[in-house]
This record gives sequence, C-alpha cells and structure tokens, in this order.
Amino acid sequence: MSWLRSIRDTFKKKKQNFLFNVGNEERERNAIFRFILSPIFLQNLYTSGSFWYWVGVNIPLDIFGSGVNGDVDFLISFSKLPSICREERLYQVAEIKTCKVNKRGRVGATHSGDKKINKTVKQLEKLRSFGSGRVSLFEIFILEKYFSLLDNNLIKIIQPYVVKKGKKVCNNGFSYYPFALEPFSGKSSERESGWLHELLPVCSFGGKEDVGLFKIFTENLETFFEENKKDMEALFPIVTCCEKCRKLQIINPHSLEDDFKCKFCGYLLFRNF
Ligand SMILES: [Zn+2]
Repeated sequence: MSWLRSIRDTFKKKKQNFLFNVGNEERERNAIFRFILSPIFLQNLYTSGSFWYWVGVNIPLDIFGSGVNGDVDFLISFSKLPSICREERLYQVAEIKTCKVNKRGRVGATHSGDKKINKTVKQLEKLRSFGSGRVSLFEIFILEKYFSLLDNNLIKIIQPYVVKKGKKVCNNGFSYYPFALEPFSGKSSERESGWLHELLPVCSFGGKEDVGLFKIFTENLETFFEENKKDMEALFPIVTCCEKCRKLQIINPHSLEDDFKCKFCGYLLFRNF
C-alpha cells in the first residue's frame, strides 16, 4: 500500500507547512489564529502587566450599523488593572499583513513598495478616523519549515523591509510590530508546534482615548460578549464574524475541533491545522 502511504505523507507534509503553502487570503486569516495560539504571544500578555478579556478577529466596522466599510483584523480587549468594570477597558486594534520567507531566506512579496505602504497607512488611518486611539500594524513573516535549521539570520534578512515600512507607518503615528511564525521541525503538524519569533517593535505609541463610532462599536462588542460567552472557559475567547452570513459568534481557539465552522451557516472560519 505504498501509494496510500505516499498520499498520507504528502498530506502530512502540507499540514506541517500549511501557512506557507496556502493562498494569500487564507494565509492571512489563519495566521491571526496561529498568532493568538503561539506560546510567546500568551506569555507576553502575562508579562505585559495588563489583563486581557477577549480577542476580536475579522469584525466588520458596520456590524452594528455604523455605515462604515472595512474590517478590524485584530482587536484585544484589556485593562491596566483587573476589573470587571467595562469603563476601564482599553482596546488595541491592528491591521494584519503577512509575508512569506522561504527556508533559503528569500523574502516573498513584501508589499514594501511605496504604493503598497501608502495603501496600508490609509487602512490604519481609517481605523483611527473611526475613533480608535491605539492602532498598530502587525506584520507576520511566515517562515518555511526548516528555516531556523538552515542557519538563516532572520533579523538580517527582513531588516531592510521592516525598517522601510516601519518608518513610514510610525511617521504617521501608528505602532509597528513585526513577528515571525515558524513551524517546529518535528513530525507533528503545526497545530502542536507552530511557534512565534518576536521581534522588537520598531516603534510603539502609548495610545490615545477611543472616541466616536469606535466607542459605540466596542461597547456593543462587550455587550455581545457578556451575553454570549455562557460557559466559555477559553483562555482567549475569540469574537469573530462569519464572512458569509455576517453573524457574530464566540469561539474557543483551544478547542480540539478540526476546523472552526460558523455556528449558523457552516462556513469555514478557521482551520485548526
Ligand atoms: Zn455563517
């Protein structure tokens, strides 16, 4: 049954390098998911001195009828002191971009051309004019499996892109955080072994007060979370919106389900690869 074994091995291989091999749109969506689950991300949250409540992923700005187009890729609800009081909650929002780096150190489309960077800055400006006081760009470099084993110098490889992009983003008053995700080199799938290199923020700003439509947006999200969390004991529950039926829902990223499907229409939200 060698053909069977070969199919199985091919499938396994794909799974081990899923984020690197998958198409652009799916990569971005699933990179956020993998990012939230990475141990260093969790550790960072614990050592940052903040208290975290829930994470929002891919939520349309218009979900409560603001009339504004666009989405929030990533949002974290947190506070400086442990508090059940909603008024003390703060929100960090981020636009997520991904960029592939193969195991030989070749960087894929970096979107670091002036036109692309200007487009990204416009997206960040949109979140700021919606009323968010803390807007960042999270750039996730997706490393091909075996990248680290081949003695690549990650910082050296990505530095030119990071510096160019960071400068432009920061000059406009936004924070810029580059990260890198790499699957471990064992036989297990990325689900057991995806990990995160954290690179220092190129720049970060303390943040201003949230105002306007964004305030209403987060108040509504908090209400939705309170009313729907039920027995959710997840470490970091994710509030997300189905692209297809546009219904908000809460998922537990640590659940052992194979894939996360929309609770209302069955559309595939994230792969638990
Ligand atoms: Zn749906």
